[in-house]
Amino acid sequence: MDELGIIKQLINKLGQGKVLTDDELKARYSHIWEMDRPLQAKALLLPDSTEDLVIIMKTCYQFGQPVVVHGGLTNLVGSTQSSNQDVVISMEKMNRILEVDEDNRTLTVEAGAILENIQQAAWNKNLMFPLNFGAKGSAQIGGAISTNAGGLKVFKYGMTRNLVLGLEVVLADGTLISSLKKLIKDNTGYDLKQLFIGAEGTLGIITKAVLKLIEKPRSRNSALLAFEDYNRVVKTLKWLESNLAGTLSAYEVLWQVTYRPMAAAVFGNNLPLAPDFPYYVLMETSGADQEKDRQRLEHLLSDALDQEMITDAAPSDSPAQQEQLWELREHMDHVVALCQHDQHFDISLPIGQIEEYVLGVLMELDKLPFVRECYVFGHMADGNIHLIVDKTKQGKETINAVNEVVYAPIQSYGGSVSAEHGIGMHKKAYLHYSRSPEEIGLMQSLKQMMDPLGILNKGKIL
Ligand SMILES: Cc1cc2nc3c(=O)[nH]c(=O)nc-3n(C[C@H](O)[C@H](O)[C@H](O)COP(=O)(O)OP(=O)(O)OC[C@H]3O[C@@H](n4cnc5c(N)ncnc54)[C@H](O)[C@@H]3O)c2cc1C
Repeated sequence: MDELGIIKQLINKLGQGKVLTDDELKARYSHIWEMDRPLQAKALLLPDSTEDLVIIMKTCYQFGQPVVVHGGLTNLVGSTQSSNQDVVISMEKMNRILEVDEDNRTLTVEAGAILENIQQAAWNKNLMFPLNFGAKGSAQIGGAISTNAGGLKVFKYGMTRNLVLGLEVVLADGTLISSLKKLIKDNTGYDLKQLFIGAEGTLGIITKAVLKLIEKPRSRNSALLAFEDYNRVVKTLKWLESNLAGTLSAYEVLWQVTYRPMAAAVFGNNLPLAPDFPYYVLMETSGADQEKDRQRLEHLLSDALDQEMITDAAPSDSPAQQEQLWELREHMDHVVALCQHDQHFDISLPIGQIEEYVLGVLMELDKLPFVRECYVFGHMADGNIHLIVDKTKQGKETINAVNEVVYAPIQSYGGSVSAEHGIGMHKKAYLHYSRSPEEIGLMQSLKQMMDPLGILNKGKIL
């Protein structure tokens, strides 16, 4: 069947307004950072219901038509790239928050809803959806589920995987799998929803989800800490955790090379802590009593200073001060703006070995003449660090050279080439540093079974 055939059929079945082609595609793009590059696609589809998606996938399956799913286009691994042979499905119209169930503490939502709107809907009912990261204003929940996103609160509340109770998914052939249950416990065979979480749209298209909410914390206190060495960063995490009785909710580390430009961009000349320490940590507690929690944290920080675990501390409890402090970690675009050509990494390693790994990588990067700087920071309590490598040149060779330096040592540390961003296109060649041939073989078998024509996000991950 020819190309026009499928587009005609899709227009007939969905209506003209939901199928964009030719000139209508020019204003579209495949990533929020590449808005100047027009989308490559045969057509862009705008379903506004699960029924539309079933029709789309049945038609695409019939034609063996490859599809690429677009959420908020904030992924960092090239997983929404497409070619002019693909049909792109954008989930932007399926953005309704369907229900907030206060007793069950669940929120039922369509996959195209923006993360920040979900957070707000929960907050309005005195509840919280704890998934939080810098791209929350653009990322959709379907994208976050498909990438099993992590972010700033994983340490206390887990990855997206831990926050999803039910899913509705359309498979490659248009079969609808609906399991929008609100249950915490359900041991009835395989937990099928987990297959789609983190699958980057390669096994099915998520249309709706039931999310787990938690009670809104009644207190929030934050502090910026400075450290003389990495060993103290690790020891203080353990010490704070055991002394804060479960209220420690974030512990994010910034290497000096990252703190300096971030602090200058956020605070100008009025830095919360001097820029001369090797390590900084942004920590947060979430509890039930603002004043008592503040006092407890201040006592602990004073103890930590006396015991020389930390070298300096800048606590803050007013919401405005805290927002500003957290900009240090949430607005990495300040660092990206300094880069000529930036390359991003998110690595998982055992916490105790992070420093050694980073030192080794920095030494090797130093040998590459086109590397200008490497900014290091991350979700320290999860053993997850990010590197942003600034280069004078772009291109395959430089990308591959930096990739090798960063990824090659991972295997010997028992780490992962992707802590939270996923594999997409960018990390495919390095999957074997984290996964055995048998694991990759099983993934390929699953893909073959669930998408025998290979039409869902073709070429991504595997
Ligand atoms: C400034 C910034 C900060 C970030 N910080 C973090 C962070 O701290 N932690 C973190 O984990 N990530 C982070 N990210 C990465 C990114 O935000 C996440 O990967 C996010 O979850 C992607 O959501 P999205 O809606 O933008 O998905 P997209 O980028 O549109 O898509 C991502 C993948 O999911 C698939 N997909 C999208 N919607 C669906 C659906 N409904 N069904 C099936 N497949 C679908 C796509 O095909 C693609 O493979 C950050 C990104 C930026 C730009």
